[in-house]
Amino acid sequence: MELFCNPAVASVYNSPAQRARVISEQWFSENSYCLACKSDHLTKTPANTRATDFSCNICGHSYELKTFVRRPRKSLVDGAYATIVAMIESGTAPTLCLLERTELWRVQSLTAIHSSFLTPWVIERRQPLSEHDRRAGWVGCNICLDRIPLDGEIALVEKGIAEDRVEVRRRFQRFLPLSNLPSDQRGWSTLTLSVIRELKKSEFSLSDVCEREQRFAVVYPGNRHIRPKIRQQLQVLSDLGVLSFKGGGRYALAE
Ligand SMILES: [Zn+2]
Repeated sequence: MELFCNPAVASVYNSPAQRARVISEQWFSENSYCLACKSDHLTKTPANTRATDFSCNICGHSYELKTFVRRPRKSLVDGAYATIVAMIESGTAPTLCLLERTELWRVQSLTAIHSSFLTPWVIERRQPLSEHDRRAGWVGCNICLDRIPLDGEIALVEKGIAEDRVEVRRRFQRFLPLSNLPSDQRGWSTLTLSVIRELKKSEFSLSDVCEREQRFAVVYPGNRHIRPKIRQQLQVLSDLGVLSFKGGGRYALAE
């Protein structure tokens, strides 16, 4: 993977935002690959395709590219709130690709935020734009990256070094079965995984997770079946190969 972008491709543009978009899209189209299948090529989508910049011709997985000099860790500004929520609910949300580059356009990191981890809980509605704004009343959103477990952030390039493609795809594809679940069910699975990661233990018990029932109650207020739901999610995560059941109510995290 070539890690230097070519700023010359944007020589006819003056606006810094437009230049950044053209340079990063050119690099991405030449160097990215599909995470969801074996295809080594992604295709640029027509201009103005909603929340999607690239897609795979083989499996149809879609990608939205965002470029930064310093990528955000906590929260990411995204487009229209209603659009992204509708895409999440219909199972068509893209995988977000965060490209972090130096001032001289060397790629420092490229991180995929797996579409299976985009659930209603991670989307925060912003205040409508004020009446003084050209787009008064428009409602945007933030993507709360700090509500996504690290499993959902897959590095393709980290600290200026490209990761092994086979391993990147393995990390990504093990969570693809989640995309077949309704967004609410995925929400339970990914939240359970977040809570398990917060335990910071390689082995844990069902009761370790259930002790954190309050974390679930914040996201699903009024739900009276939190414990059975947690037990069900541990089964889902075991089926994905993220956990293994050790017997006696104990589980181990797989690598
Ligand atoms: Zn594909």
